[in-house]
Amino acid sequence: MDWKEALPEIVTQPGSRLRFGEPLAKHTHFGIGGEATAYIEISTVSELAALARFHTEWDVPIAVIGRGSNLLVSDTGFKGISVRLVGELAKLEVDGNVVSVGAGLSLPALSKTMSRSGLSGVEFALGIPGSVGGALIMNAGAWGSSFGDVVTDVTVMTDSGELANLTHAEAAFEYRHSGLEPYFCVTGATLAFDPGDVDEITDRMQTFYKQKVATQPFAEENAGCMFKNPPDDSAGRLIDISGLKGYRIGGAEVSTVHGNFILNLDNATAEDVLKLVAYIQQQVREKTGISLQTEVKRLGFD
Ligand SMILES: Cc1cc2nc3c(=O)[nH]c(=O)nc-3n(C[C@H](O)[C@H](O)[C@H](O)COP(=O)(O)OP(=O)(O)OC[C@H]3O[C@@H](n4cnc5c(N)ncnc54)[C@H](O)[C@@H]3O)c2cc1C
Repeated sequence: MDWKEALPEIVTQPGSRLRFGEPLAKHTHFGIGGEATAYIEISTVSELAALARFHTEWDVPIAVIGRGSNLLVSDTGFKGISVRLVGELAKLEVDGNVVSVGAGLSLPALSKTMSRSGLSGVEFALGIPGSVGGALIMNAGAWGSSFGDVVTDVTVMTDSGELANLTHAEAAFEYRHSGLEPYFCVTGATLAFDPGDVDEITDRMQTFYKQKVATQPFAEENAGCMFKNPPDDSAGRLIDISGLKGYRIGGAEVSTVHGNFILNLDNATAEDVLKLVAYIQQQVREKTGISLQTEVKRLGFD
């Protein structure tokens, strides 16, 4: 039997969905990418555990994705199962200043709920259109704060479908990086907040959001910052002084608003984006001597 025939047995709960030949462009902020052989929205821990065992048994590649806001998918798609966490895997439970979140929860939704609850710590996250899982993997952040700052522990699932709890130290948060990638999946986290005044927290959150909208492109499809900032410098500044704002390859263009954003302006392909990335890296290296490293993750490339 083929794995595609066996897969429907895993996806049994009413909140879960399975589709074959799903265009991943629909699930990324870049709006770029071919089809995943299979795509599952999975709503329970028990189905996720069964999927982990399925992946080991059938040796099928699996990619858990969040909101696809830091993701470039290949034009030929992903030959495997792409998974999004929903339902009980996107929960939010508040107990005093301790909050338990599922990895599928949207980061802006978390930011808004915390501000309404008078809990301070993720005001920076309203303008980051990812999920909690993506924010944990990437240690997403802005304005000097990072998601890892509020995390006390992280729950992951192993390849054998077991849940494991990792301490903050074991999660190994660094600048736009964590030690969580080797696990089958990140399922959630416990977060600790500072209690504060609802109006002050809401003001801070809205101020950060307005500053972001004023300084970064929001209308066009993109994947956030393409490159990590080098130590004590900004990738956007280096791209700007290298004269690359507005530079275009195919349908992909360096934003004229913020040089570290690549926009999908006109049906850009993943190939256009990667050519532009390589050109930026080469030009910045020639003009400044600095090698830029990409922040955006890739899926479906050999
Ligand atoms: C307009 C815009 C603004 C942005 N601004 C910021 C910003 O200010 N600061 C910042 O840090 N980032 C920013 N980003 C980038 C992005 O939003 C963050 O990196 C975010 O944390 C990614 O979350 P996601 O759910 O979209 O992850 P995805 O893009 O879906 O995935 C990113 C990586 O995490 C993995 N992953 C996701 N969920 C899981 C899981 N549950 N288990 C295991 N692996 C998982 C994926 O396989 C992939 O490798 C911005 C993006 C956009 C489009």
